[in-house]
Amino acid sequence: MSRFDSDFTRRLLDKARGTFGSMDAVRCFVAPGRVNLIGEHTDYNDGFVLPAALDLALVALLAPREDNKAIVVSIDKGPDDEFALDNIPRLPNHEWTNYVRGVVLALQAKGGQIGGFTMVVGSTIPVGSGLSSSAALEVATGFGLGKLFGPELSGPELATMCQRVENEFVGVNCGIMDQFIVANGQADHALFLDCRDLTTEHVPIPSDLAIVICDTRHPHALTDGPYNERRASCEEAVEAIAADQPAVTALRDADMDLLNQARGRMSEPVYKRARHVITENRRVLDSVRALKQGDAVTFGRLMNESHDSLKDDYGVSCDQLDQMVNICRGVDGVLGSRLTGAGFGGCTVTLARTDAVERLSEAVLTQYPVQPEGPALVYRSRAMAGVREEDPKAILGDL
Ligand code: ADP
Ligand code: MG
Repeated sequence: MSRFDSDFTRRLLDKARGTFGSMDAVRCFVAPGRVNLIGEHTDYNDGFVLPAALDLALVALLAPREDNKAIVVSIDKGPDDEFALDNIPRLPNHEWTNYVRGVVLALQAKGGQIGGFTMVVGSTIPVGSGLSSSAALEVATGFGLGKLFGPELSGPELATMCQRVENEFVGVNCGIMDQFIVANGQADHALFLDCRDLTTEHVPIPSDLAIVICDTRHPHALTDGPYNERRASCEEAVEAIAADQPAVTALRDADMDLLNQARGRMSEPVYKRARHVITENRRVLDSVRALKQGDAVTFGRLMNESHDSLKDDYGVSCDQLDQMVNICRGVDGVLGSRLTGAGFGGCTVTLARTDAVERLSEAVLTQYPVQPEGPALVYRSRAMAGVREEDPKAILGDL
């Protein structure tokens, strides 16, 4: 089964032929995008998340070179890059290959003898829509170069290394969730992740449920400002609670009783931010239990509550997200719908009975207003495996 349409594979193959010359030594690594089913803005509070890997994916084609150079090309984005492997600076202007450069440096720091290589990248993950194309790029690079040159890291090690690259080399302040699910996803399972100690549990998703992602086409201009402001509010709340509960070092450690006891020591907005995080952690735990019991109705209700809490308490929704969620919730066979990702735009995630997907898609395309960036996009996905090597012919056809 190919998850890549023929236009995509033709463009990727054309670029690969032109770049590699011979396809004989080319290996193929696939890293999925991801969606978070529930557990939003909990990761940096040492809390819980429940993402799944998608069949939207980034493909990295890799082959070693005789010389000591890296040549890195994408069919989706320029400019191409060429750099020597003995001294790798960060490029100044958010160039996309900084993700690659950073991962090479990180592998070298772990003892990897990274030789010359050519890499051609193509992806079906919409860039900048909150489905984590950046983590897919990092994880595909780290996994693929690890296979070619070593070291071959475990999934959790790979995720941790890639997060550090994004934080410290690229300069984006993200939690561990994205890289973790991209590196460790399992087909037909969501991944429960405890962001404090990185313990995990793969939770099966019943086969009569579909994950539907709707891109509002409202760019999530995230906007370090509001994000950092939310993080600061969480820290303020922790400080207020810890004044008489020193064991509380993150909102993960608090419950509503502790928060209410400390309410007089924080502003109302800070109280509401903290209430979102505390109730959201609970909802993730309840969702996992519901999923294990096959109780999709409860799971859907928790998704709805998550959205309402993100909107009313955490203040990270927007008109487009609310509108999309309302359209989805109105469709018969939809169990729950919420914004996913950091908010302020980007995508929603909806849990629906498989037989409701067409109705849902129809409702979105007819009811959701076209944005300046274009009409809504609707993706249906199963939960897929995390990063893996595949036979290039299985994706590209005859080479
Ligand atoms: P998201 O991870 O939500 O898609 P980000 O802003 O974190 O959005 O990451 C997007 C960036 O990742 C792009 O601007 C680009 O630098 C890089 N990137 C992702 N996919 C590709 C690709 N296929 N080709 C080149 N660069 C990519
Ligand atoms: Mg990203």
